[in-house]
Amino acid sequence: MTQTQIAGLTKAELSEFVRELGEPAYRAQQIFTAVQQRRARSFDGITNLPKELRVKLSEHTAVSTLRLESRYISTDGTRRYLMKTHDDRPVETVFIPEERRDTICFSSQSGCPLQCTFCLTAQLGLLRNLTAGEIVEQIIVALNDAYSEGVQTPRGTNLVGMGAGEPFLNFDALLKAIRIIGDAEGLHIVANRITVSTAGIAPRIRELAAIPNRPHLAISLAAPTDELRNELMPINKKWPLDELLDACKEFEQSLKPGERFTFEYVMLKGVNDSNEQARQLANLLNRHSLRAKVNLIPHNPAEPLPYQPSPEERVESFREILESKGVQAFVRKPRGRDILAACGQLAARSAAPVSIQQQPR
Ligand code: SAH
Repeated sequence: MTQTQIAGLTKAELSEFVRELGEPAYRAQQIFTAVQQRRARSFDGITNLPKELRVKLSEHTAVSTLRLESRYISTDGTRRYLMKTHDDRPVETVFIPEERRDTICFSSQSGCPLQCTFCLTAQLGLLRNLTAGEIVEQIIVALNDAYSEGVQTPRGTNLVGMGAGEPFLNFDALLKAIRIIGDAEGLHIVANRITVSTAGIAPRIRELAAIPNRPHLAISLAAPTDELRNELMPINKKWPLDELLDACKEFEQSLKPGERFTFEYVMLKGVNDSNEQARQLANLLNRHSLRAKVNLIPHNPAEPLPYQPSPEERVESFREILESKGVQAFVRKPRGRDILAACGQLAARSAAPVSIQQQPR
C-alpha cells in the first residue's frame, strides 16, 4: 500500500490535489496551514474543514503515515523516537533541547546502505529510502511531542540530517522535504537552520554547489588516508579522498556569507586518533586549500561495534595539532548516548522506553 501523504506535498502539489477533488482552492491553503503550521496529524484534527470533506479526504489520502512506536528519554533531556512507516520500516528521530534552541536530528533512509564499520545503523542495511513526507513528518512528530500539536515553538529549531541513512543517496526527497519545511506558511524552518551530513557522495556535493537556498553541509571524513578510509568507510573506494576533496573545494568556492561547511571526524581509540594522523589530516586539508573547520566526534560505542571512544586527552592533543597547522577544530559533545540516540547509534533498538502516554505538558 502506498498512500499520498499530505505532509509530503508542496503547497503547489496540494492545490493541484484539491482541485482534482473538485474542491475550492482555499481548502488547499487551510489544509497546508493545519498540517505544516499547526502540525495536525489527522484530518479529524482539522476542524475548520466540513466533516464530509474530512471523510472524503481520508478516503483518498492521509495527513501522516508514521506511527510512533516508542520514545526514549535521556538523562540529558535528549529524546529518541522510534517510528514505523506504513510498510513497517523503522524510522528514528532525535530531539535535542539546548539552552537557546532545539535541534532535531532526522533520518533520510530506513537503515543505510553504506557499511561504515563504526556506525550501528550500517548493521540494518538499507531497508528503503524515506519519502519527502516521511522526512517532514519526523519534524512534526518531534515538535508535537515537545510542545503539543498546534502550539507555537517557544524557541528556534535547527535541523540536522545526521540520523539513519545517507541523505545524498535520497537527494530528491531530501531537497523536496527541505523546501516544504522551509515554507513560511508551514514549519518555516529555513535552509540556513538545516545542516546535512554526507559520507561523501562526490557528484551530489558538486550538485549542491550549484543550488541556491541550500542547507549547510558537513562531510564525514573519519580517516586521513585512503588506506584507512577504505577500511572504515567503504564508500571511499568509489569516491576516494582526492576526488571527494576536489568536490569539497568546488563546494567551498560556492559558499555565500552565512553558509557553513564543516568536516566531521569520529575519534576511534587507537585507530584514527594518533598525533601522526592529526598531522596527516591537517596536511590533507591544507593540500586541497580547504578552510572548513573540523568537528571531532568522540565515538559513541554500541554493541557489537569493535571500537572505543578516544580518551579526552587524546582528542585534545589531536585538536591542538590540527590548530597548530591552521585547521580550526572543535570537539562535539555527545548527547543521548544512554538511550542510543547519539551519532551512529540509531539502529531501531529498544532502550528502557518511557511510556509515550507520559507526555509532559
Ligand atoms: N550518512 C551520513 C549521515 C549520518 S552519520 C554521513 O555519513 O555523514 C552522521 C555522523 O555520525 C557522521 O559524521 C558519522 O561519521 C558519525 N558517526 C557514525 N557512527 C558514529 C559513532 N558510533 N560514534 C560517533 N559518531 C558516529
